[in-house]
Amino acid sequence: MTDLIEVSYTGDLLAHRRCRRAWAFEKHVGVHPYEQVQAMEGFMIHHAMQWLTDRHRATGAHADVASLTAQLNSYFLVLWSRGIRTTFASKQETVDRVTRHLYDVEADAPHPEVLAAVEGAQHEEYPLRSVRKVVPELYGGKSKILLTGILDVVIQQKNTLTYPLQWRWTDKAAMLGEVIDVPDQAAVGDTEIWDYKGTRLRQNRSRDDYVRQVVTYAGLLQDRIGLPRRCVLFFTNEKPGSGRRLLSIPIDQEVIDASFAWTLEQVRELRNTVLQIQQDPLSIDGGDLTKQHLPMAQRVDQDLKAQCTACGQRFDCDAYRAFLTAGGADPNDIDRLNVNKN
Ligand code: SF4
Repeated sequence: MTDLIEVSYTGDLLAHRRCRRAWAFEKHVGVHPYEQVQAMEGFMIHHAMQWLTDRHRATGAHADVASLTAQLNSYFLVLWSRGIRTTFASKQETVDRVTRHLYDVEADAPHPEVLAAVEGAQHEEYPLRSVRKVVPELYGGKSKILLTGILDVVIQQKNTLTYPLQWRWTDKAAMLGEVIDVPDQAAVGDTEIWDYKGTRLRQNRSRDDYVRQVVTYAGLLQDRIGLPRRCVLFFTNEKPGSGRRLLSIPIDQEVIDASFAWTLEQVRELRNTVLQIQQDPLSIDGGDLTKQHLPMAQRVDQDLKAQCTACGQRFDCDAYRAFLTAGGADPNDIDRLNVNKN
């Protein structure tokens, strides 16, 4: 038996925080969701950014809207064949949305933030792997953690760029902070790490987790590229020109160290879930990990609901049932005989 806990930051750590029950059944029982609703736009954005960067590097010019659209149409079919779905009505609507998120279609040119990422890209899809030693008594007998992740892009700024929003740390040790309406300015030559989020910038647990994630990635990269000037989250689903697409996150060694401590604590909780499912699979409740102290109906929020509706564990999930019935919603979603669903 291996002495190592392998943890993917998004596939394990963040998924476990979103819902430990769904995560545990998928990873340790092998029950996979039959489709992934809402994931499509995120996959398409990531693919498009990579494709635009490769294309710019190869030709020295930016792709036009027509070729970007053609590429997205092809990639949509690839995702569909893998069981990845969208909440939007049609393929055309999805491709149009993603294209408009990235390009000013009328001007046939990338939005400024896309331009900065494509032109400044030094390393894309940067794989991260780091082993940490831990005390076996706290991690169910395991003495090492292999933390893995993929950073979207390392950028060296080719032009100045203004970030309309900044993250302000309110408690670095606890990795807590808030978004403030104070611009930050990138200078030519600044090294930054960017993570693309196919969502909107909302005040919720996911937003805070994304901040912790990109800061931890900066720490994992520190030995190779040094400490970047800042981390940046690019919320691709925010309206272009809204001033809410880019969030600049200041970092220093104190924040990096705190992010590792926070991450290791999350791995400890994750390990406890593994031990629990091995002992008693039915004892694991659904819902947001940070809301387990709340009544059952409040452990699912609108963000998690998007996952619940395609979750294979939803039919006997007390948290989702309580959420649906408390809100007066139609519980058809958890009716096993509802042949119109799935
Ligand atoms: S239905 Fe929702 S709360 Fe229940 S296990 Fe699935 S994702 Fe978690």
